Amino acid sequence: MKQSVAAERKNKMKWEENVRKVVPYIPGEQPREKDVIKLNTNECPYPPSPMVEKAMEEMQYQDLRLYPEFPEKTPLAAHLAKYHHVGEEQIFIGVGSDDVLSMAFLTFFNSDRPVFFPDITYSFYDVWADIYRIPYEVRPLDKNFRIRKEDYIGKNCGGVIFPNPNAPTGVLMELSDIEEIVKANSDNVVIIDEAYIDFGGTTCLPLLEKYDNLLVVRTFSKSRAMAGGRIGYAVGNEKLLRYLNDAKYSVNSYTMNRPALRLGAASVKDEAYFQEICGKIVRTRERSEKELAALGFTFPASYGNFIFASHEKVRAQEIFERLKEKHIYVRHWNKARIDNYLRITIGTDEEMDALFAALREIIA
Ligand SMILES: *Cc1c(COP(=O)(O)O)cnc(C)c1O
Repeated sequence: MKQSVAAERKNKMKWEENVRKVVPYIPGEQPREKDVIKLNTNECPYPPSPMVEKAMEEMQYQDLRLYPEFPEKTPLAAHLAKYHHVGEEQIFIGVGSDDVLSMAFLTFFNSDRPVFFPDITYSFYDVWADIYRIPYEVRPLDKNFRIRKEDYIGKNCGGVIFPNPNAPTGVLMELSDIEEIVKANSDNVVIIDEAYIDFGGTTCLPLLEKYDNLLVVRTFSKSRAMAGGRIGYAVGNEKLLRYLNDAKYSVNSYTMNRPALRLGAASVKDEAYFQEICGKIVRTRERSEKELAALGFTFPASYGNFIFASHEKVRAQEIFERLKEKHIYVRHWNKARIDNYLRITIGTDEEMDALFAALREIIA
């Protein structure tokens, strides 16, 4: 059977010419085994807020009979608007920020001029550009993995997108530099992906008051410990959001499921818990930076819930494989410039101690 499938792939079918072919994004591994230490996809090691648990218990299964409400008309949107001091019509909610970003690519990157993003960045951007047939150009980070703001100013591009802090490097760009880029691109939409902003960075949301071409994208997957809930959102100018909604409602009206809308709202209400888990992760990150430095790793200062580290002697690929044998999963890319780096998600203190013990053995 297997062989015949392979053979079929080789012998091109007539219709294959006409297929929209893409090389898909490859997410980090989700190992099947229990008892692994999973530091490979930047999930939060702590559970979501107890208020999310309560909301889950109070959910009425009969409600699943009905289609969900429009996300922008839900308490979740109202809470997010209040939280960010913007109008409800400035919030767009999607199935994780991947859904929001994908819709934003489709809606706002519609020029013959190329969209610009860094060469080392979230590896979904080029996939969306490819599937939507959007021309793009990557701009190399400097040797310290910094985004060079000059690359995005006065360059006649068709749009700009990057995460701040950047992934997988953890490097943060100053707010004033972001402002210069947004200001210089008034004929383009600039998307700032703030997936990791809650771990110590400065958000660019205040720029929304001055610039109508900025879209800020956030997710519940990392700092709100709800990757499985699939909730992301964008904040932007009302007009920008209307275009985004028009595109979204032309693809699939009911993207958000009822439970996610309820659980997300419960999470936003519990600010104290949110601050608590973000604080814990930042403290563990700071401790981890010291431990890793002592073990001979170098890394740029991280503003995310991960550290992007390279060892002075042992190759990243080898460390990656040896850690996996010990049931510790981190992320490694076989990609130019970063193939000697590991991206290590910050886990609990206990998990990190197990990692350091394993690294000590591997490096010895
Ligand atoms: C994790 C991540 C996302 C996507 O997260 P969702 O789970 O889809 O919300 C988007 N951008 C960056 C930079 C990320 O690291």
